[in-house]
Amino acid sequence: NTSWDKASQASFKVSWSDIGGLDSVINELQESIVWPLRFREQFQRLGIRPPRGILLYGPPGTGKTMLAKAAASEVSANFIPVAIPDLIKGEIGESEKSLAQVFETAKRGPSIVFLDEIEAIFGSRENSGEVGKKLITQLFLEMDDIPENSNVVVLAATNQPHLIDSSILRPGRLDKAILVPVPDEHSRRDILCKVSRHLKIENAEDIFNWLAKIEMPGAEIKALVKYACYSAIQRKSKVLNKSDFDTALAKYSNQAFIC
Ligand code: ATP
Repeated sequence: NTSWDKASQASFKVSWSDIGGLDSVINELQESIVWPLRFREQFQRLGIRPPRGILLYGPPGTGKTMLAKAAASEVSANFIPVAIPDLIKGEIGESEKSLAQVFETAKRGPSIVFLDEIEAIFGSRENSGEVGKKLITQLFLEMDDIPENSNVVVLAATNQPHLIDSSILRPGRLDKAILVPVPDEHSRRDILCKVSRHLKIENAEDIFNWLAKIEMPGAEIKALVKYACYSAIQRKSKVLNKSDFDTALAKYSNQAFIC
């Protein structure tokens, strides 16, 4: 993902219905994040403690950021993205202060704090990076400090779950880890339908059936459709056809997409 893409995601509302092929992940997030906020009294009455944090793990471009954003819009919560590698770059003292500010902002209202590339915090610890160590301590402090009845949930994401230290995977920290898998053929077809639902496509059914056979994550499906749009624009056509997807696919085969 380019920073432009992240910024564009931040400026548009995403909902569950925009997400293709991840129904079971959506259901889990619905139960873990949406229900506790929506049915707070029932949860309290039944003595169920909802998760304070959830880890989303899976390969790049499978929709982790998108899921976090959709969860936030579903409960009308603020979406507060934090790129952990950027925090790590900071000076000792400054990085912890920035993290503390994030949680201070989050506690003002319903919020989802999205800690992207969370493994970077532990990578530093392995390399005995002082900033990483201090940040981990600060993160645990901040998470312990989230009041029981507050509407703050931490969603962390990683492409490299093997680098995650188990100290963060426990109740009160990241209570749950959910795999966001690469899409299978059925899911890829669903994603194709979702990302191109505002477009006019000639013989869409056939094109989707054909493209769904090609293994690629959601971010690349999105990029493929974008390149097909470029091709249609070049042909001065408002309707996409198979030749546009052929052109896009040729680009895909020749170079990695810049998603
Ligand atoms: P990374 O691990 O590289 O940060 P990610 O898993 O967070 O990636 P996203 O940033 O959510 O992936 O995905 C990038 C873009 O790809 C999304 O904004 C969306 O346009 C598209 N996309 C990815 N997965 C899906 C999906 N399942 N359904 C619809 N669109 C998707």
